[in-house]
Amino acid sequence: MMKTYKVAVIPGDGIGPEVLAEGIKVLKEVAKLDGTFSFDFVTFPWGCEYYLKHGKMMDDAGMECLQEFDAIYLGAVGYPGVPDHISLWDLLLRIRKGFDQYINLRPIQLLKGAPCPLNGVQPGQIDMLVVRENSEGEYAGAGDWLFKGKPEEVVLQTGVFSRKGTERVIRYAYELARKTGKTLTSISKANALNYSMVFWDQVFVEVSKEYPDVKTYSYLVDAASMFFVKDPGRFQIVVTSNLFGDILTDLGAAITGGMGLAAGANLNPERKYPSMFEPIHGSAPDIAGKAIANPIASIWSVSQMLDFFGQEEWGKIVLTAIEQVLVKNECLTPDLDGKAKTNEVGDAVVSAICAMK
Ligand code: ATP
Ligand code: MG
Repeated sequence: MMKTYKVAVIPGDGIGPEVLAEGIKVLKEVAKLDGTFSFDFVTFPWGCEYYLKHGKMMDDAGMECLQEFDAIYLGAVGYPGVPDHISLWDLLLRIRKGFDQYINLRPIQLLKGAPCPLNGVQPGQIDMLVVRENSEGEYAGAGDWLFKGKPEEVVLQTGVFSRKGTERVIRYAYELARKTGKTLTSISKANALNYSMVFWDQVFVEVSKEYPDVKTYSYLVDAASMFFVKDPGRFQIVVTSNLFGDILTDLGAAITGGMGLAAGANLNPERKYPSMFEPIHGSAPDIAGKAIANPIASIWSVSQMLDFFGQEEWGKIVLTAIEQVLVKNECLTPDLDGKAKTNEVGDAVVSAICAMK
């Protein structure tokens, strides 16, 4: 029987719709070539333009609508004139938190043909998977603003690290390390954050007892940042908190070809709720509407979606096709010093996929 994956598409703002169109093109081609599954796409018009018309980023019944889907495919949200914290909290974080997508999985992998700003680093030498805590921590939204405008004004931003939240992300990373036979590095900052990160480190050691087969390391985030640049090859599976993961994965994107190549998955591993797949870049208003956005990040996130659906073979084929297009160096967008349009890159990836099958 034909399996149908229901995918909610939220193109969002700026280059979001432009890059998502290419990812959808790839998914349709994959389904056609495979023949045993198909996709049912439903598009939702939510984002900043919607906000300017309706005063909210998404429909009130939005979360109930999305619950019906197997996955959410998100472009980007953000618009000049709409404060970032509104677009972030009212859509992206609402979905991440509401659907308990507590794992943010970001591949930091230097593909063949991708530009690397580090001297002497070859493709294959950067090959990590960052598991970022995605539901609490420094981004829990807890805090206070006291004595506003007064000389004694004080602002508190509280990190929230629950045992459940910390254990589950660390355990997820251990499982991944065990499954792949890779090393696991925890990145924290216990010398300065004397409650949260001491606790984090403690949980990391506790959980390690269940995984004697996994080789582990522990780094302070400042030292880890340095080694991301000086010797990124020492990291394989990385587990870290919400804030540190956010920053480290942008750094990771910078050393593996830039924002146009960086993908991320927001996972609810129990599959009680839909998971969400997205390029990690923003709406890039500076290049929106010009058809020059790089769709590779968006297509890479489709590869992650296929993995999550259990179609790992296809996930790998899509990633290999991306790599082939990069190596060929004939059809790339201006951020990669090419002259191609967004849709031409999508077409090139599709051709490479077809050539493999
Ligand atoms: P937002 O406010 O939604 O975060 P942004 O402009 O900050 O949007 P970023 O993702 O932070 O977008 O990207 C910063 C810059 O990197 C963009 O302005 C753009 O020039 C470039 N960029 C980002 N994504 C891409 C892409 N897919 N292709 C080409 N260039 C990109
Ligand atoms: Mg931005």
